Amino acid sequence: MTQAKNKVVVFLGPPGAGKGTQAERLAAEQHLLKISTGDILRDHVQRGTELGQQVKPILDAGKLVPDDILIALIRDKLAGMDAVRVIFDGFPRTLPQAEGLDMLLEELGAPVNAVPLLEVPAEVLISRIVDRGKQAQAAGQAVRSDDTEEVARHRQDIYREQTQPLIDYYAARGHLYRVDGVGSMDQVYGRILDGMK
Ligand code: AMP
Repeated sequence: MTQAKNKVVVFLGPPGAGKGTQAERLAAEQHLLKISTGDILRDHVQRGTELGQQVKPILDAGKLVPDDILIALIRDKLAGMDAVRVIFDGFPRTLPQAEGLDMLLEELGAPVNAVPLLEVPAEVLISRIVDRGKQAQAAGQAVRSDDTEEVARHRQDIYREQTQPLIDYYAARGHLYRVDGVGSMDQVYGRILDGMK
């Protein structure tokens, strides 16, 4: 496979900004693998694996799972890929994770190409998350244990403290672009594509 086939996109933005939804569409349209660390961890919790049991209280409290666990998960996911065509959703969330990812990608010869930052005002985020919980409940679907107002607020604090420094990290490398995350799904998706050109 040639280098040009590789494509690595990192979706950055606070919890509730719509990263998962937008990343899913981009993945489908551009034949990329979406790697959502929240989904992977929730799957472990649901299956009751050793890792799941270890991380459940952390997810329930809206805190961050230790960096070494995340980096090992991503290392496994990327292992053996011919062409590295991936979108990261919810990873990296700390500077050590970003540095760990860069090291893994360097080994694979597939550097980060684009980092859209989805920007949404804080109060809109909380109501989106709480609504997501209510809608899942109304539809008889599993409600995320961390989609309550209290935990949602805590997750925003953690984002500000631990994940926001990544904005400078990726801006310094010339990969970051800002996307207004308020609007219809189509509008926001259009802005993501525009910034990627
Ligand atoms: P998310 O679905 O991305 O909102 O993630 C849900 C929860 O999974 C977070 O609140 C964390 O407890 C955990 N998690 C997901 N991704 C990471 C990560 N990159 N680093 C640490 N914890 C994570």
